[in-house]
Amino acid sequence: MLPRWRPDNAVGGCCGGGGCCGGGGGGDVIVDAGDDEGAAGGGAVASDMPFRGRGRGCGFLSAVRRVFACCDREPAAADAGLAFSERAPAVGWPQLHLLPKLRLLRLTLVSEPLLAFLAGVDQWDFDTFVLAELTDGRPLSVLAFVLLKSTGVIAALKLNESKVVRFLVAIEDGYGSHPYHGRTHAADVLHCIHVIATRGGLLRAMRSSSPNRIPSSRSTLPVSLPEPEPPTSCIDALHMLGMYMAAAVHDYDHRGVTNDFLVLDEDPLALLYSGASPLENHHVAAAFALLREPANDFTASFRRPVRDWLRDHVVAMVLATDMRQHLTLLAQFEASAAPDSAAHAGAPLVWKMALKCADLGHLAHDYELHRKWVCLLEEEMFRQGDLEKARGYSVSPLMDRLGEGVTKGQPGFFKAVALPLFGAMAGVLPGMRPMLARVSRNYGRWTSDPG
Ligand SMILES: [Zn+2]
Repeated sequence: MLPRWRPDNAVGGCCGGGGCCGGGGGGDVIVDAGDDEGAAGGGAVASDMPFRGRGRGCGFLSAVRRVFACCDREPAAADAGLAFSERAPAVGWPQLHLLPKLRLLRLTLVSEPLLAFLAGVDQWDFDTFVLAELTDGRPLSVLAFVLLKSTGVIAALKLNESKVVRFLVAIEDGYGSHPYHGRTHAADVLHCIHVIATRGGLLRAMRSSSPNRIPSSRSTLPVSLPEPEPPTSCIDALHMLGMYMAAAVHDYDHRGVTNDFLVLDEDPLALLYSGASPLENHHVAAAFALLREPANDFTASFRRPVRDWLRDHVVAMVLATDMRQHLTLLAQFEASAAPDSAAHAGAPLVWKMALKCADLGHLAHDYELHRKWVCLLEEEMFRQGDLEKARGYSVSPLMDRLGEGVTKGQPGFFKAVALPLFGAMAGVLPGMRPMLARVSRNYGRWTSDPG
């Protein structure tokens, strides 16, 4: 049996200086020879890699317009979405046909504030509620496309832009209107993992996955990276693509209730997955079903082993967001992290942990913004409690709106879950220390003012 393909054993022309990122001949490690799908999209942006230093504003504007122009001009994307939505309702596709011109017009009018806002996308502070307003309700697809384009991932992997956009828009429309688990949360997680990867040092750790090159002493490492890091090869870009995809789809078609509720309610998802992480399994399975639609499949040009690796990578990251796995994953991470821990920083476990941190990324926001997210989560949980009462079930802890909600349970959650999680990550990735400090600060606020 042949060894499974992994980016770190894809040596040779691609990441060994062969120049595949610049459009040279090494890209056959990723892309099937003779398939020009990728080149069609990548070629259009090959000269536009404005991660920094070049006119990033222009890249942002064109990226944002690309998302909305696609909604306007390409009904095939909507058709694909409708076909899927028949199997998984709660998708607002028809709206795309009613509003695109208005959206385009509004985007033109507000492009300067939007560009000014997006200029801060590499910083820890980033309010995706504001982004949702500035993009007229398209925070996820706009942010995802902006990141994929401006970091050079699209160019490096020669992705077909139209397919990327169709996929992202379809994913965004698969997020329901739940108070917390909606598209704005997905955008928030996407932004957070972007900053963890760049400013937090995750990409650097991935590149240095050799034990000889990974720092092994926590105390001697720099506190943070001075600048975000762009991808340096198509292998970097593939990791980044997997990371961005995992964040974007990680709560796709969320039902606004917990796995436990789905199991208790004998929901079809719980039956389908035999009660094992039904939500997370559904998020990622349904997302890849969307990707398989020919109009959306920007990975069609990848060699099969690369596509398999990408799916495995995304699936593993998304499944790790089930909080039922939290203690097991944390224990594994800590066991591999100390004291030679960092030698494992390039392993999949650290990517899972990164998405877990991003999923709880609002814990590191400014207190008022963080509190806003917690209140939305509380309302969503109260709605589940209402549903449980209506079905005659016992109301789950913190879900009875006549009692105390999660806003009252925050100190305990920080102490038992958040601080150990962010502490473990900051131990391996020193660039995460600012995030840990922010989480610690909010813990202090909750304990002094439990609200
Ligand atoms: Zn989430």
